[in-house]
Amino acid sequence: MLFIMGDLNIKLKTPQTGEYDQPTGLLYSHHSFINNEFVKGVDGKTFEVINPTTEDVICSVHEASEKDVDIAVSAARKAFEGSWKTTTPNERGRLLVKLADLWEKNMDLLASVEALDNGKAFTMAKGDISAGANCLRYYGGWADKIQGKVVDTNAETFNYIKKEPIGVCGQIIPWNFPLLMWSWKIGPAIAAGNTVVLKTAEQTPLGGLVAAALVKEAGFPPGVINIISGFGKVAGAAISSHMDIDKVAFTGSTLVGRTIMKAAAGSNLKKVTLELGGKSPNIVFEDADIDNAISWVNFGIYFNHGQCCCAGSRIIVQDTIYDKFIQRFKERAAQNNVGDPFAKETFQGPQVSQLQFDRIMGYIEEGKKAGATVETGGKRKGDKGYFIEPTIFSNVTEDMRIVQEEIFGPVCTVSKFSTQEEAIKIGNNTNYGLAAAVHTKNLNTAIQVSNALKAGTVWVNQYNMLSHQLPFGGFKESGVGRELGDAALDNYIQVKTVSIRLGDALFG
Ligand code: ADP
Repeated sequence: MLFIMGDLNIKLKTPQTGEYDQPTGLLYSHHSFINNEFVKGVDGKTFEVINPTTEDVICSVHEASEKDVDIAVSAARKAFEGSWKTTTPNERGRLLVKLADLWEKNMDLLASVEALDNGKAFTMAKGDISAGANCLRYYGGWADKIQGKVVDTNAETFNYIKKEPIGVCGQIIPWNFPLLMWSWKIGPAIAAGNTVVLKTAEQTPLGGLVAAALVKEAGFPPGVINIISGFGKVAGAAISSHMDIDKVAFTGSTLVGRTIMKAAAGSNLKKVTLELGGKSPNIVFEDADIDNAISWVNFGIYFNHGQCCCAGSRIIVQDTIYDKFIQRFKERAAQNNVGDPFAKETFQGPQVSQLQFDRIMGYIEEGKKAGATVETGGKRKGDKGYFIEPTIFSNVTEDMRIVQEEIFGPVCTVSKFSTQEEAIKIGNNTNYGLAAAVHTKNLNTAIQVSNALKAGTVWVNQYNMLSHQLPFGGFKESGVGRELGDAALDNYIQVKTVSIRLGDALFG
């Protein structure tokens, strides 16, 4: 990848769009930093961004320290107490819709940067940008529809309930859908009238910075949306323990989610929402259309290289069709094109980093040692880039680590059930509860199993079909609160009750 180091913008090239200006700084405005400008980190430190396809360095970006988080928070506070407070809901909505339009206008650029930085296929990245633009526009539509109510309690009192923004929101996002998560976080927070300091994941800072330039172009006042690049243990920890951040929203691993909740509890008890891991069951009954079911099962686990919190990683198949299912699923998985994200036919690119690659390969070795059978895959693909073959394990037992722990890669397990009751029992045998799916033609089975599964989303005869209109989030250890839909607005609103005594009769 060609690049010329500049100060805060560099020229990068992507195979899809050619040369573009990549901002490398942190975007915030405060005192001497004016008008949504990109700035360097206070300590002048930078970190390298690696291309997972080639393992080469793409460029370096400025790293946020605790001091940078402080500056960004005070910018967000100043905006929240100042200009943003008097910005009308209509104007907030208009700005979000403008931002959505700019995402669409710059779709190829944003998708290329995402494919370069994260390794996902360019065509899939376009899907992310389109979904992200829809999400921003959807919350733009909500901005002037957040309404309170009047409640009659007795003749002497007039009560109204207001929905107010929470304040300065810290948002910490992961690397698997960098720009989509950016939109999921910023959309509802801004619609509700908050200001934000959002930290991208250290593996994938590039797209968030390009999108930050669009924030400025859309016309947001300075300090309303602040984007920083930095590490979890430094900038992420500074956000979750900050005394002047009123709310923290996080998407990532359950392990880090716990740390964030503790940091929030140990600082100012800021409000917390968490969208965490999963080990989602994907249940196939004998009466399902088997070819369709296999297509969805394949998409359920291998989409985004298995790097989805809701990945259908535990496939549970009725014993009567088990052998046929394994045979056909193996054939289907082998057809997935694994390769260069910018090649037209690519479905699966590389894993995001060496660390993730090593973790996944470690789980594959662990599964083999535990006695599971590798039906297909199980190896690195090629000798450059973090590519892993789509992998299926059979002959698994419920206690195996590959069945219980989130692998976050293109690896699934297939187990058997005989009765509906058993399918539900196996499906719920996990500490997670993000998503689940049922494949059947029987309406009773579909509804009974969906109702019995302990998961925030249950798909029937499909998988991974998220919509910005539908709430998404976890039961059990998969999270706190909901993303998307009107439910996400609740994460960014606080309810105020005003109760007024009428008349002038003496009290008591
Ligand atoms: P993964 O393990 O898959 O990389 P993480 O949950 O570690 O996922 O990362 C998701 C996000 O959480 C990233 O933006 C990362 O920088 C951030 N993060 C990691 N550790 C911490 C922490 N201790 N405090 C706050 N944020 C963190």
